[in-house]
Formats: sequence, C-alpha cells, structure tokens
Amino acid sequence: MESETTKERRIAKVLASPCCLAALSSSEEHLACRKCKAEYKVEQGRPILILPQAKKRFESFLAKSEKQIFSFEKRPMIRRLFPPSETLRLVNKEEELAAKLGPEALILNIGSPKEKKREMVIYLDANPLVKTDIIADAHRLPFVNESFELVICRFVLEHVCNPQKVVSEIHRVLKQGGTVYVDVPLLYPHHDSPADFHRFTLPGLKELMSDFSEVESGMSAGPASALACVLRGFPGLFFENKLLFRLSKFIFGWLVFPLKYLDLLLVGRKHAYLLASSFYFIGQKGRQKKPSP
Ligand SMILES: [Zn+2]
Repeated sequence: MESETTKERRIAKVLASPCCLAALSSSEEHLACRKCKAEYKVEQGRPILILPQAKKRFESFLAKSEKQIFSFEKRPMIRRLFPPSETLRLVNKEEELAAKLGPEALILNIGSPKEKKREMVIYLDANPLVKTDIIADAHRLPFVNESFELVICRFVLEHVCNPQKVVSEIHRVLKQGGTVYVDVPLLYPHHDSPADFHRFTLPGLKELMSDFSEVESGMSAGPASALACVLRGFPGLFFENKLLFRLSKFIFGWLVFPLKYLDLLLVGRKHAYLLASSFYFIGQKGRQKKPSP
C-alpha cells in the first residue's frame, strides 16, 4: 500500500500535459494543464493524458479490431484451451536491464500490461482495455524531459502511425545515459492490436534508433517461429466464415507450434537474420559512439 503511494508520488513528479508538456494541477477527478487549462480525466485512478484527436483515432482502430475475434474467446476458460505461442522468444532483456538499476530508478514501459513484479515501472498504453497506470499516446508522451532511466517499448513500433516520432519522444523522456530497449517484427503476420502499420529489418531498426548509441542488437525470434506463424495462419485463408477462420487458427496452432524449437538450432547461424521473426535493439542516450573500425 505504502509503495503504491510512493509510486503515485513519483509518477506525479514526472507527469506533464500532452497539450503543452506543462505541469499539471490536480483535483479528485481530473488533471488540468497549468499553461492552457486543458482538462484530462482520471478514471479509476488512471490519468487519461491523451489529446482528443489521438483518442478518437485510436478508438476507431480499437472498434475494428475488436470485431475480428469472438467475445467468447476472451473468456479465461476458453483462453486456457488455446495453443501455446508459435513464437520462441530467444532474447528477453527486461529483467536484466531493470536489475542493473537502483531501486529508485524510474522505468517506463510502453505497450505492455501492468505487472506486479517491479514497483518503479510506469505502464502506459493508449488502449483503455490494457491494465496500465496511464492512458496516453506514445507519439506524445505526457512526461517532462529526462524523466526515466529505462524505457521499454517491445512490439509497439509496428502499431504506431509514426515510429520516428515515438522514438524521438522516448529519447526526450530518457535521462542522459538512460537505456532504451525495443523489439520489432520482421516476418510476423499482420495483427491488429488494434492497428498494424510497419515491419522492420535490422538495418532499418538501427537507422530508426540512430539517435542512441547502440549497446547491442540482433534477432529476438527466429525463422522457425516465423514459419510456424505462417503455417498456423495459412489454412484459414481459404475460409471466409469467421468461425471457420478462427477454428482453423486454433487447430493449426496446436499442430505447428513445436516447429518454433528449431530456432534453437538456428541461433547464431550466419543467415538466420534474413528470415527472422523479430529483432531487438538496446541503446543508450548521449553515450559516445564507438568509432567504426
Ligand atoms: Zn496545455
């Protein structure tokens, strides 16, 4: 309980209005920009710091994507019957990077649901259905400059209209010497959650992140995972009917998921990146770039 209050106090210190990036004054039910007086709601303790236009746009994507699955599929009992993921995650550095920081360090996680594990993590998403601390648009992060030691943004950049803008916002809210950790797909099927816009090669990802000094980068899920995904989705393409389409994904999911383990044989192979499922990049803000040999 006490830690929750500490966290709330820490969040309040770094929050800024999305309109002017100015300080916010707060009352019980809303926050207001001290500069232009724009008001933002707080719903069930969650500040909704998103500009009206971005909110509207996001809600229209969300309405479309919700129609693609049956509501009964969301029931926990049904979800337990679903096949395991067809993607084998080869690299996950979240814990390692967070563990390097002191207990007071503030971490921002964009686009992942809230976990109880770490206290000083602020979870942010534009989707009100995701369990987060703040509802906001990644194109306009509602924080003052240099607020965070670590920003985690995994499998989000393919879903934003303008990845470059989001990356420059991450750069702005990171402290000097702070770390960014991103993951992006290359060969992964179109997935509206709620909208899907981009794919990235490793050089493309590095170019996107070029304001940061690279610490490390590489394949985070391999070709066998990419193949399993395609094989899972492919048979369903012959069905126009939504139930048959979903059922096919369910059945083929169970049949093909073990394929992903072939990625354990492909890790470190010279050409594996050509058909990778996803890539990761870890970078630092303001660190001297290594001179190229
Ligand atoms: Zn304002």
